[in-house]
Amino acid sequence: MLLEVRDLHVEFHTRDGVAKAVNGVNYSVAEGETLAVLGESGSGKSVTAQAVMGILDMPPGRISGGEILFKDRDLLKLKADERRRIRGQEMAMIFQDALSSLNPVLSVGQQLGEMFVVHRGMSRGDARAKAIELMDRVRIPAARERVGDFPHQFSGGMRQRIMIAMAMALEPSLIIADEPTTALDVTVQAQVMDLLAELQRELNMGLILITHDLGVVADVADKIAVMYAGRIVETSPVHEIYQAPAHPYTKGLLRSIPRLDQKGQELYAIKGLPPNLLHIPPGCAFHPRCPMAQAVCRTDVPPLYTVDEERRSACHFWKETLDAR
Ligand code: SF4
Ligand code: MG
Repeated sequence: MLLEVRDLHVEFHTRDGVAKAVNGVNYSVAEGETLAVLGESGSGKSVTAQAVMGILDMPPGRISGGEILFKDRDLLKLKADERRRIRGQEMAMIFQDALSSLNPVLSVGQQLGEMFVVHRGMSRGDARAKAIELMDRVRIPAARERVGDFPHQFSGGMRQRIMIAMAMALEPSLIIADEPTTALDVTVQAQVMDLLAELQRELNMGLILITHDLGVVADVADKIAVMYAGRIVETSPVHEIYQAPAHPYTKGLLRSIPRLDQKGQELYAIKGLPPNLLHIPPGCAFHPRCPMAQAVCRTDVPPLYTVDEERRSACHFWKETLDAR
C-alpha cells in the first residue's frame, strides 16, 4: 500500500480547551488510486492531510496518536531531514488558492524551474526547458511565450494548472489536492479536475482529493471516505455511495448537490451546523442534525459497521438508511 493512515488522532490546544480535530481516522491509498475525502469545513479532512504532509501548524496542532505509513514506513518516526525529503519529492500538495501559494514576484517559469535546479541539480537553461514542457503538459496555451509571465497574469484556472504542474514536476507518488477547484467557476472546475485525473492515471500516482462537494468527484474518484467531526462516518467505492448511501450524513450531502433536472427547486441543505470541536456531541456526533436519530444515538458512539466487503458505515441504523432510499 502506498499510504496507510492508522488510528490517527490530532488535537488542537486552544485557550478554551482541547479540540479533537481528528479522532481515530483510518484510510489508505494505493498506487494509481484516487481517494476522495469528503466533509464540511471542520470535519478534519484538511487536518488529516496536513498531518500526512507533515505541515500541521505546530503548535497548536499536535498528533496525539496513530501511524502514517508511507511505503511501509511510519512518517511519524522519521528524522526531520528524511521527512523533508519525502515531502519535497515523493509527495506534493495542491491548495485551493493558487495565488497565495505561488510566489508573486517570481515568474512561473522560474518557480517551476527551481524545482529541477534544487532537487535535480539541473542548469538554469535545462530547468527552463523543463518548465515549458510542464506548462505544455498541463495545457497552458503558448507555454514558450508565457514562461516568463507572473502568477497574476494568468486566469484562476490557468494558475491552478500551474499549481498542478508544480505538484507533479518531480513525479511524486502521492498528490494531495485540498479543494483544488473550489475557487473556480463550474466549467473550469471540470476541466481542471479532468486534467488532474488524467495526469494521475498517466503517472500512476496516488491521489487524495479533499472536497466538500460530492458533485465534483463522481467521475474521478475510485473510493470515498466521508468525514464528520473528526471521524470517518462512511467509506465506500465511489459508485455504490451515489446509488445507495449507508449513512444519513452522506445522504444529506448527496441531496445537496445541485442537479440540472431540479432547476428552480430549492436546494436541500442539511439542517444545523457542524459541531464545535471543543464540544463534540456525545454518542453519534451527527445526532443533533440527523433526521433518523433515535435515543441510542445520543448515548452510544456508533462503530464503523461492515455494510459489505468494501463498505463501512458509522451509523447504528445503516440498514434502515440503505432501505429508506
Ligand atoms: Fe443518525 Fe443515529 Fe445513524 Fe448517527 S447513528 S447517523 S444519529 S441514525
Ligand atoms: Mg479545508
